[in-house]
Amino acid sequence: MADRLFELLERKGLVLGDGAMGTMLQLAGLTDGGAPELWNVARPDVVRAIYQGYADAGSDIITTNSFGGTRYRLKLHHLQERVFELNQAAAALAREVAGADRLVAGSMGPTGELMEPLGPLTLDDARTAFAEQAAGLAAGGVDFFLVETMSSLDEVQAALEGARAASDLPVVVTMTFDTNYRTMMGVTPAQAVQTLHDWGVTVVGANCGNGPAEIERIMTEMAQARPEGVVLMAQSNAGLPRWRDGDISYDGTPEVMADYTRRMRALGVQVIGACCGSTPDHLAAMRTALDGPPLAHYEPAFDVSALQGKPVSDSTARRAARRAQRAET
Ligand SMILES: [Zn+2]
Repeated sequence: MADRLFELLERKGLVLGDGAMGTMLQLAGLTDGGAPELWNVARPDVVRAIYQGYADAGSDIITTNSFGGTRYRLKLHHLQERVFELNQAAAALAREVAGADRLVAGSMGPTGELMEPLGPLTLDDARTAFAEQAAGLAAGGVDFFLVETMSSLDEVQAALEGARAASDLPVVVTMTFDTNYRTMMGVTPAQAVQTLHDWGVTVVGANCGNGPAEIERIMTEMAQARPEGVVLMAQSNAGLPRWRDGDISYDGTPEVMADYTRRMRALGVQVIGACCGSTPDHLAAMRTALDGPPLAHYEPAFDVSALQGKPVSDSTARRAARRAQRAET
């Protein structure tokens, strides 16, 4: 099957992802105990409007409302028998909005179960669950699968094998490095990009987490460890989460996300989008940043020599800084 994501990357060089689904559904009235995926059939008007908001903001990719669409997550809402239907509906609605020009990414999030030996979930069972979800997404018309917000490489392996068993569509993987620049399970950005490359994944990156500054350091580590041919992707939350009276909000303005977009470009990240807390307003600002001139001068917002991944010596950093200054003129 044609790899439409690579066609798009070749054609445009830089690709704009989209923004949050969960926080948008909450704004539209989804309550804490509600199943987001049920709204693909119960409130398709709302889901379609969120997709449309991102399409109008200039997103090149529309991501399906199927993040919790495995049987393990749906079981929390007694919907585990409706995996195929709810995932297919998520994808069909997105396909309708995306048309021929935009791509549809089939979101596949973690099962929420710990994998063996830490927990009860076997690789076989996880693989089966992801295959079931991927079959629904493929039937609804996605262009590729987006395995996202992962913290365990074992679970990524299960998702990858499950998706590949269900379909020959490409699989993109982004993990979440929200625990001192590692995933909750201790995976470093360098480990992720190298392991996923070994497993034949060509688009790799980070999503969610603790805002643009954290993602910037993570993507720097990935860029330094990136094997040739790997395309990087970043989808940051819109700033930092803030809790007030049991509600969560995010403090990143559209300007903050536009700045993040320009900084990702400077790092060579080719697929740039947003995650929790973002809205079509954020994506519109990011579109403008992506279409505008690149940063004339890029300096990382952190001490590069303190990177945990591939160490950068002082002299290397100084040489890089001098090169960057020369490039500016
Ligand atoms: Zn998120």
